Amino acid sequence: MTTNSATPQRLYLLQLSTATIPVAAGRTLSMVCVCYLVKTSDDKHILIDSGLAADASLLPGMPSNDDRKNVIEHLADLGLRPDDIDVLICTHFDVDHAGYHDAFTKAELVVQREHYELARSGHTRFAPARAHWDHPDLRYRLIDGDTELMPGLTLIKTSGHAPGHQSVLVQLPQTGAVLLAIDAVVMQHLFTPDRQAWPMDDNEEQLRTSTRKLLDLVEREHVQLVVFGHDGQQWETLKKAPDYYE
Ligand SMILES: [Zn+2]
Repeated sequence: MTTNSATPQRLYLLQLSTATIPVAAGRTLSMVCVCYLVKTSDDKHILIDSGLAADASLLPGMPSNDDRKNVIEHLADLGLRPDDIDVLICTHFDVDHAGYHDAFTKAELVVQREHYELARSGHTRFAPARAHWDHPDLRYRLIDGDTELMPGLTLIKTSGHAPGHQSVLVQLPQTGAVLLAIDAVVMQHLFTPDRQAWPMDDNEEQLRTSTRKLLDLVEREHVQLVVFGHDGQQWETLKKAPDYYE
């Protein structure tokens, strides 16, 4: 993106919607649908995912609670338009992550080659949002494996939930290292070496390998905060836009 030494300055957590999912007798699970915005020291804006498509629900057949605010509305609240986004990091093309990609035609979209090629080949899982992520006006940069996008912002390949899924490590001036696990680890209680897969996960063995990779990374990089992909309970404790981590 840049040839200078710009670094991340702010991280905004955008909560797009919430849902309460019944899981067992009398028990429910609180889930969130989210995306993220990084503002850099040279005043560039990096969006991470674009959230649930307007015509989709968080989980198939599950209505979301009546608290939706889409990415465009969140950006407007921060004084930004879609054209102000310089880079859009695509963690994967599930419908709750790629639902507004086609609004960001001025951005460079960054995705793992393995994921992009699988989705483009017509894999049915990525069909519901295809009109949004496979729009002819979008400009993609395909990457292979862990990639430092700029000093302080690294993409971590974490297959398992989906082939070529990626998580994001952001180094902030005051907070320190923040790991956005995305759907490699959707809930805090799943962040263990011997975790199990969920129905939406593609490959349990890869999922465990990726989870261990992230557990190691937390140690090695002295990560101060791990944000889990859909954990409504954790999100209640986090700073959300218009507030930010810096
Ligand atoms: Zn998801």
